[in-house]
Amino acid sequence: LDTAHQADAYLASLTTPIRLQNFIEGDYSEYAEPTDRIDSFNPRTGELLAQIPRSALSDVDRAVDAASRAFPTWSRTSRQERSEILLRIATILNEKKELFAVWESLDQGKTLSRARVEVDRAISNFRYFATYILHEEGAVRYVDGPVSTMTYEHRSPVGVFALISPWNMPLYLLTWKIAPCIAFGCTGVAKPSEVTSMTAFLLGEVFRQAKLPPGVMNIIFGDGPGAGSALVKSPRVRGVSFTGGTATGIRIRQDTVADIGKHLSLELGGKNPTLIFDDVNLEEAVPLAAQAAFENSGQICLCGSRIYVHRTIYEKFLSAFVDYVQENYRCGETIGPVVSREHYTKISSYLKQAKEEGANFLTGEIPSEMPQKGFWITPTVLANLRTDSRIMRDEIFGPVVTVSTFGTEEEAVELANDNPNGLASILMTKDLSRMRRVGERIDAGLVWVNCWLVRELGTAFGGMKASGIGREGGAQSRDVFTNLRTLHVR
Ligand code: NAD
Repeated sequence: LDTAHQADAYLASLTTPIRLQNFIEGDYSEYAEPTDRIDSFNPRTGELLAQIPRSALSDVDRAVDAASRAFPTWSRTSRQERSEILLRIATILNEKKELFAVWESLDQGKTLSRARVEVDRAISNFRYFATYILHEEGAVRYVDGPVSTMTYEHRSPVGVFALISPWNMPLYLLTWKIAPCIAFGCTGVAKPSEVTSMTAFLLGEVFRQAKLPPGVMNIIFGDGPGAGSALVKSPRVRGVSFTGGTATGIRIRQDTVADIGKHLSLELGGKNPTLIFDDVNLEEAVPLAAQAAFENSGQICLCGSRIYVHRTIYEKFLSAFVDYVQENYRCGETIGPVVSREHYTKISSYLKQAKEEGANFLTGEIPSEMPQKGFWITPTVLANLRTDSRIMRDEIFGPVVTVSTFGTEEEAVELANDNPNGLASILMTKDLSRMRRVGERIDAGLVWVNCWLVRELGTAFGGMKASGIGREGGAQSRDVFTNLRTLHVR
C-alpha cells in the first residue's frame, strides 16, 4: 500500500470488516468471546473499518500469564541482546513505515504526512532505548569510617507492566511505553485504545519477525472498563504506564492505591496556554500558534488551545491569525476529521455552549447534529469568552482555540496558570531574560519557547497538577520500569 488512496480502494474491495485478534505469547489468537466485538469506524467516512476483540477477564489473564512466564528469562537477558532485538524491531518498522503510516491515517483520521512523522518517532523510540541501555553509568561512593564500604546503586526490572494508551497518536504513544519496558528488562501487556487499534495489531507481526521472545510483549484489545481495568487491577501486574484522560487516570490511581508497590506513571490531559508577547515577529508567531492549535485537528495533549496575546498587538495578531487558519487549515486537505462520532458530539456540545455564552466565532461554526459523512469539524477560532467559561477551562481536544489578551507579564503568568492542568505551554518572545522569568514560572511540565512539539527523548516528559504523576523519557523511564536498591559492601 503506497498511498492512502490505494488503501481506500483496498478497503472498498473487502466484503467483511477487518477483524483483529489479540497477540499473546508470540502469536495471534482467538479470544474468549469471539462474537463480542467493538466496532471501529473510519473517521473520514463514518463507515465500519474494523472489529476489535472485546477481551474478557480470561483473555487478560492469559496475556498476564504469558508475560509472567517470560519475565524470569527476559529480565536476565543481557542488555546487548535486548538492544539487538529492539534495533531489529526498529529496522523492520522502518521497512514497513509506509504501511504503518497508511493504516494509522485511515484508523485515526490524521493526515498521511502527520502519520509518517509519528511512525518515524515510533522507530526512534525503539532506537533510543535500544542504545540507552548500553550506555548507562552509575557512581560508586567510598565510605571511610569504623566500617568502610563501597556503596553503589543497582537497578532491576520491576516485572510485568500494563501499558495503556489513548487514540490520538496510537503507535507513537504505545511504542513510547513498549520500547523502555522491554529495554529495561520488564515484560508487558499492552492495550491500545479501542478507538484506534490497527497499528498495534500490525506491531505484533513486527515483534514476531524481530524474534522478540514469545510472551515478552503481548497486545490485547478491548475497552477500558473491561480489559483495561482488569489489567490494571491484576495483582501480577507490577506497574502501570498509562497515557490518556485525567478522569481515567484518577480511576486507575484509585484502582491501584492499595497495592503500594505497584509502579504508576500517569500522563494525562492538558489545556495548554500559548503566550504571545509584543516583541514577536507576527510572521513567525502566527503560523506557530496555528500549528500548535490545529496539528492533528487539535487532538494532541500538547496542543496550545488557549492563546493569550499582549494587548498592544492583539487586533493585528487576530486578523493575521484568522486569515492564516482559513487559508492553511482546510478539512480534507491539510487537516483530518476528529476521531469518532462520540468525540464529534462532545466537541459540538462545547461549541454550542460557546455560542450560548456569546463567544465570537471568528472561523468555524457549530457542526451539524448528525455528521453526514465522516466526523469533520472546521477549525474554529473563538474570542470573547470569560476566563471561568468551561470552554476556557476544560480540555476540548479538537480543532478549537480561544484567543484572549493580557496586559502585563504578571497577568500573562496568572492567566496561563489559571487552570487545573499543567502539561505544556508555548512562550513567544525575543527577550531572553523574559524567556526565563516567565518560562520558569509557568505551571507546565514542558515549556516550549518560540517552538512547539520539539522532543528530545532523554529529557523528562510529563505534566504538573492534574496532568499527571511522574515523568517518562531517558532516565525517567528507567525509574518507571526499574526498582532501585542501594548496596553498602564492606
Ligand atoms: P481515555 O482515558 O478515555 O482512554 C485511554 C486508554 O485508557 C484507552 O486505552 C482506554 O481503553 C483505557 N481505559 C479507559 N478506562 C480505563 C480503566 N478504567 N482502566 C484502565 N484503562 C482504561 O483517553 P482517550 O480519550 O483515549 O485519549 C484522550 C486523552 O488522552 C486526552 O485527555 C489527552 O490529553 C490525553 N493524552 C495525554 C498525553 C500525555 O502524554 N500527557 C498524550 C496523549 C493523550
